Amino acid sequence: MAIKFFQTRCNKCHTTENFKIGHDDSEESLDKAVEHLQGKTQIQVRSILRKHKVDTAEFGFALYHCPKCQILYNPYAVRVEYDDIMVFQPFYKCSVCDTTLQKATQAIENYACKQCAGKQLSRIDY
Ligand SMILES: [Zn+2]
Ligand SMILES: [Zn+2]
Repeated sequence: MAIKFFQTRCNKCHTTENFKIGHDDSEESLDKAVEHLQGKTQIQVRSILRKHKVDTAEFGFALYHCPKCQILYNPYAVRVEYDDIMVFQPFYKCSVCDTTLQKATQAIENYACKQCAGKQLSRIDY
């Protein structure tokens, strides 16, 4: 799996923003992907790798949105299932309103511009 890039462009204020989805081919395992994780999350995942049996792991850049202000975020997300029943999945917070982010599953037109809060984004894949 290679990283997919796209850009959003606001038709109102003309702000553009770049997004990435997925992970590099060189990060085929969680051992390698762990380098991309931030602070506490990285420590927790390293500890799972050391002390537990990992069943499945999903990781890579993902598209999230704030359910309150509809702004898009692009964290390097991770979800680890281990020891048959345990799940580790960190939460991400909106930097504007502190609401827990959710995965963005709708078309880009449904989300808001970071700059002007207008809902006039269009998506350019490249
Ligand atoms: Zn805008
Ligand atoms: Zn928010």
